Amino acid sequence: VFVVFEGGEGAGKSTQVSKLAAALEADGHDVVVTREPGATDVGARIRRLVLDKGDAPAPRAEALLYAADRAHHVATVVRPALARGAVVVSDRYVDSSLAYQGAGRTLPVAEISWLSSWATGGLKPDLVVLLDVDPGVGLSRVDSRGQGQDRLESESRAFHERVRYAFLDLAAADPKRYLVLDAGRPADEISAAVASRLAGLLAT
Ligand code: C5P
Repeated sequence: VFVVFEGGEGAGKSTQVSKLAAALEADGHDVVVTREPGATDVGARIRRLVLDKGDAPAPRAEALLYAADRAHHVATVVRPALARGAVVVSDRYVDSSLAYQGAGRTLPVAEISWLSSWATGGLKPDLVVLLDVDPGVGLSRVDSRGQGQDRLESESRAFHERVRYAFLDLAAADPKRYLVLDAGRPADEISAAVASRLAGLLAT
């Protein structure tokens, strides 16, 4: 079973990934926690290329770098884990590219979708949990944690609004595969909602 968390900056994805992994492990599941970009050694180097200070890659170069990270991640981490029956929980996946490189950078979303599908060999998550947050609220959460080192956090409010609505549109187009939750709810309520949705999937 392949579960992905998506959402804008400061949505609380990493907290929810950890909570879900702990709950699944307590139930005796083999769990692999991972993320994009940067889960592998190759990916960590790509992550620095796209996110560290310095020259920003051109939008198409950025899209290809995220796709390269994802291709390597899927081939070396996600597919082997799924093949042995593990539950894979990833912080970001294809939808982040559709939202950030597509809607955010205004590259054609259908082309990013094709590129992602090529990179992953068509691997789709069983469940995408979208933690929806107003960008103003999310970015202020990131700032107050003293983070905000990534290049993306200096993008305009309009950029982050496009990203937010792209995620919501993707979820609305495929409600069976998505769980959309208000990231402003208490963390324990969010994790309970995720666990109950996942229980159905793990039982099948
Ligand atoms: O989720 P995390 O904080 O690790 O993401 C790092 C940065 O990379 C964020 O600023 C996020 O917006 C950006 N990102 C992106 N396109 C992706 C994935 C992440 O712009 N496909």
